Amino acid sequence: MIKDNIYMSVEDNYKRIVENVQAAELKAGRGDKVRIMAVTKMVDVERIKTAIACGISLLGENRVQEYLSKCGEYPKSCEIHFIGGLQSNKIKPLFRQHDRISMIQSVGSEKLAREIDAQTRLLHSDANIVTDILIQVNIGNEETKGGVFPDELYGLVEAVDRLDYVRLRGLMTIPPKGESIKYFAKMQRLFEDLKSNVSTADTLSMGMSEDYAVAVEYGSNIVRVGTALFGQRF
Ligand SMILES: *Cc1c(COP(=O)(O)O)cnc(C)c1O
Repeated sequence: MIKDNIYMSVEDNYKRIVENVQAAELKAGRGDKVRIMAVTKMVDVERIKTAIACGISLLGENRVQEYLSKCGEYPKSCEIHFIGGLQSNKIKPLFRQHDRISMIQSVGSEKLAREIDAQTRLLHSDANIVTDILIQVNIGNEETKGGVFPDELYGLVEAVDRLDYVRLRGLMTIPPKGESIKYFAKMQRLFEDLKSNVSTADTLSMGMSEDYAVAVEYGSNIVRVGTALFGQRF
């Protein structure tokens, strides 16, 4: 859990992040809006509620168990995305509170997409209900990281396209540490290309505490911020 630190207030942090995002939007000449997601892993509910009171309306959840234990206390007005590594056997427990999750950003395999599709179908006999997803791209081709390799992206896009209960909304990435800019530029190109191929694609989720302002300059429209908002995780 986060240690108490009198020098660090969520309010001040939030203001600074908003200012940085706005400055980056201006610099990039962007007219559209970038959403700031509060990444809640290891942060207690009271602190999350403080962030919500400041103006945060989008939460990012990493761990299924932690999410299930906290989600009952989140205000209904909040939108929640799942952003963590997912084994397909975790989809079932996640779907116990599925109605609160409006997007799963961390889909890196056909197996996972199929399981999300199957669980959505089971929960909802209403054919109009689908689960929005982002494909997580392992843009640095790192062995240890989740996500699909860039050259396998369209294989997965096509597989997702065949599923009736999953709707592809765009891409998410966690670039190699310290080399964000090079990889943000690659992601921007992949996203532009995806948008011209997939009519429902409108979301590029990239940028974290270290580099969210740069990500905005490269077309990100969701930045996922943990440490810069809540302080160091211990
Ligand atoms: C933890 C996490 C973040 C936020 O990281 P910070 O560096 O603390 O801002 C963003 N995205 C994902 C997927 C994460 O797991």
